[in-house]
Amino acid sequence: MSLRPFLFLFFVSLPSFSFSQQSINVAKLKTHVRYLSSEKLHGRLTGSQDELSAAYYISKNFKSLGLIPKGNISSYYYSYKFKQPLFEGDTIGGKLISGINVAAFLDNHCDKTVIISAHFDHLGMSKNEQGQLKAYPGANDNASGVAGLLELARYFTSNKKKEQFNILFVAFSGHEQGHVAAKLFCEQPTIDLNTVLFMVDLDMIGAMNAQSQLFVLGLEHFKDMNDLIVNSKTELNIQKEGMMNMTRDTEPFLKKNIKCITFSTGINSNTHKITDELKMLNFEGEKKVLDYLLMLISKLEEMPDYKCKQTQ
Ligand SMILES: [Zn+2]
Repeated sequence: MSLRPFLFLFFVSLPSFSFSQQSINVAKLKTHVRYLSSEKLHGRLTGSQDELSAAYYISKNFKSLGLIPKGNISSYYYSYKFKQPLFEGDTIGGKLISGINVAAFLDNHCDKTVIISAHFDHLGMSKNEQGQLKAYPGANDNASGVAGLLELARYFTSNKKKEQFNILFVAFSGHEQGHVAAKLFCEQPTIDLNTVLFMVDLDMIGAMNAQSQLFVLGLEHFKDMNDLIVNSKTELNIQKEGMMNMTRDTEPFLKKNIKCITFSTGINSNTHKITDELKMLNFEGEKKVLDYLLMLISKLEEMPDYKCKQTQ
């Protein structure tokens, strides 16, 4: 009989982790969503000038936190090219598009790394009922996820604590083009993927409903996280199954046997509509999602398998 179940029970019965002033800040979440979903970014279409503006905003935030650039062009930018799919499932594609991911690294001098990701591109522009061109704001999809990514980056760089792993923060574009950017990043990564402990993707986390539903997908591949969730108390209504399984930015990483989970408050009636606006979001709910994720990560760090082995 192994000791592990007993150790595990001991860890989950510790008093809940308390968050100080460095914890997730609702005003900062809102500031990020306000900029990314603003009309001036014209719906953040992959390959557009607006994608670049959004990428610049994200990289500027990473830089101000002192994170290490992990793009592929000597900066936070990860440049890639793809042929735009002409229809769902098109493997040949049409026009050649250049896109940008943004990647930054928190080096805790550990042998292992956790990836936290969120896609920042959206659908560009569309005509409304009056025939006027309007930007798709994509406030929930996925300015909310990027805001979460930036807040987690701020938290982990200011918490005065060295985590048990390094963290790679990645903002993907190309998501609305068949998740192409995550796939290309996974094929030519800027860190050794053999060192990745697990990946957490934030995809639409800003629209928590009255039932406090939070989808946590991919737990069937991540037993330790699943056990933590089963054994931890939360006011959130955790859903382990949802319509979004297996079609997300985690899929190529999952194929490389990396444990991946997706956090999402789910699809709603504003998804992929011009009504996916900041005013529809629940920022207190988003904070609950991120605080819950931080609690789970802190519990994982206490488990023997997740202890840092120092490098250098
Ligand atoms: Zn979308």
